[in-house]
Amino acid sequence: MTAKINLLDLDRAAMEAFFVTQNEPSYRAHQLLQWLHQYGVTDFDAMSNLSKKLRQKLAEVSEIKQLTPTLDQVAKDGTHKWLLRLEDGNCIETVYIPERTRGTLCVSSQVGCMLTCTFCSTGTQGFSRNLTVGEIIGQVFFAVRALSTDSGHHDRMITNVVMMGMGEPLLNFDNVVSAMSLMMDDLAYGLAKRRVTLSTSGVVPQMYELARVSDVALAVSLHAPNDELRNELVPINRKYPLAELMKACKDHFPADSKRKVTFEYVMLKGVNDTPQCAKQLVRLLEGVPAKVNLIPFNPFPKTNYVCSDEETIYRFQEIVMRSGLQTTVRKTRGEDIDGACGQLVGDFSDRTRRKERFLRDKVVVE
Ligand code: SAH
Ligand code: SF4
Repeated sequence: MTAKINLLDLDRAAMEAFFVTQNEPSYRAHQLLQWLHQYGVTDFDAMSNLSKKLRQKLAEVSEIKQLTPTLDQVAKDGTHKWLLRLEDGNCIETVYIPERTRGTLCVSSQVGCMLTCTFCSTGTQGFSRNLTVGEIIGQVFFAVRALSTDSGHHDRMITNVVMMGMGEPLLNFDNVVSAMSLMMDDLAYGLAKRRVTLSTSGVVPQMYELARVSDVALAVSLHAPNDELRNELVPINRKYPLAELMKACKDHFPADSKRKVTFEYVMLKGVNDTPQCAKQLVRLLEGVPAKVNLIPFNPFPKTNYVCSDEETIYRFQEIVMRSGLQTTVRKTRGEDIDGACGQLVGDFSDRTRRKERFLRDKVVVE
């Protein structure tokens, strides 16, 4: 017997192709995508606009494999962290961060990671395997349903997705691109391209490939302003040094698009947080359409790194900002559940928010 097809593995093109093999027209594929992703219906018999015969056939040749939550932690600030179990028993993390005007889901792309960034807990845990398309989009599928059962929320709760969970998304290229296409597909989750972000540690050849096939937002985990330090913190830099990485970033978005690459920079006390580093960073980013996101280091067991002091972080921000670069400091979220899980998580707090805070403070003063 041949294995059943997992329908969550199929993006629009693959779903259409599958329906062709079943001698069905492509609009049936579109109906199925809507049943699955928009309505969350997994019972073929409830798919009322499909004929009985087609429903039977689908039940014979296909299935819908969902992820099982083994842990659901909710922080005081509303951040959720789920541990989701895969069919083979492996577990991955998915995190949801609610904010006033948006809700961000942080999605994993691999079980573990092959790259060994020294400040990352995933990186110190080794690599197990790539996630399938169904396991990547399955995290969105799961979270949409899990959140809609929370009391009192019926609006669209997930407005943004960031590929900042476990794993290096560009080393699972095809599956990640396919899952992201479902996130943006009007028949599935319909997110705008600016609201789906891929974060990479700098796998240069695949960055060019990504620019060719997808127009999602791009974040690059920089973390150091020179090769010597970056070789140590982000070892893939030895293969693709800064000159090559910066060139790929410069060319990533069409020049007339005004889109910028977000550079993530984790603040490690006494390692990469000096004023000299800030100045070097400014020089490195000259001529690159860039914004900078400073991330307070999130400690994990057995790490030797410590997060920079708040004062040091703001001094660093000040220097970079003075050069005209938009520079934000990520807010830590879900601290009481360790929601910041090493990576991700938190706020790309932008200028608007700073202005809001400023205005709020001002009201208080007056
Ligand atoms: N592999 C990809 C995406 C997952 S990591 C990448 O490296 O970009 C998502 C982000 O979290 C990256 O910027 C990563 O460098 C950062 N990160 C990892 N460990 C961290 C920690 N302990 N504290 C703060 N940020 C961390
Ligand atoms: Fe992998 Fe990203 Fe962690 Fe580096 S920071 S080890 S690339 S998950």
